[in-house]
Amino acid sequence: MTRTLATFLAVVGLVLAPPAAASPEQILADRTAAWLEQLLHVPVPHQQIVPAAEENGQTWLAQSVPGEHRIEAVPWLIEEWSQMADPDEPQPAGAHALLHELLHLHHATVLEEGAVDAVALDLVAPWTQRFHGWGSITQRYGTGPDDAAYPDDVRLVRALSAAATDGRVRSTAARQWRRAFLVADDAGRHAMIETANARSRR
Ligand SMILES: [Zn+2]
Repeated sequence: MTRTLATFLAVVGLVLAPPAAASPEQILADRTAAWLEQLLHVPVPHQQIVPAAEENGQTWLAQSVPGEHRIEAVPWLIEEWSQMADPDEPQPAGAHALLHELLHLHHATVLEEGAVDAVALDLVAPWTQRFHGWGSITQRYGTGPDDAAYPDDVRLVRALSAAATDGRVRSTAARQWRRAFLVADDAGRHAMIETANARSRR
């Protein structure tokens, strides 16, 4: 068989092969990414969920692999995401972890974990409302720093958002500021921090 024909057949085979059925957690992650995209008005890339390659010594439960559109997660967390696809009970911690990884949008470095985690916590209740129809139960999740994956960074981002707006961490204006901070690049984040600091000194 000529190389060209073999290549052609390989390509046809690739096109005709039935796609592997997506797992429940993958479907949930993709629907969540689409929801985030609508909410934030920025592209939220599709991320493939894969089991963490090896024991990582419990230093992390999940991580986004920069530039590879991949979320690696420990097996029990993937199992929890899989169960969350069938919404019979709220899983705020699982939703928090999924939102957190999907919100690593680009390669910003200025307070990246604080920005990501603050917005992830803000969105646990709306996410649960949207995907599970539960609201009040998760309303308290993430209001204190204890639920944060990066408590100090989240505290700082919340303080900046309050200083830059109306002084109230939970206000709509402060939440909007945190979203804007998340989607900003490093230069944008620096400028937002300076403005917040200038306002808090007045
Ligand atoms: Zn992170």
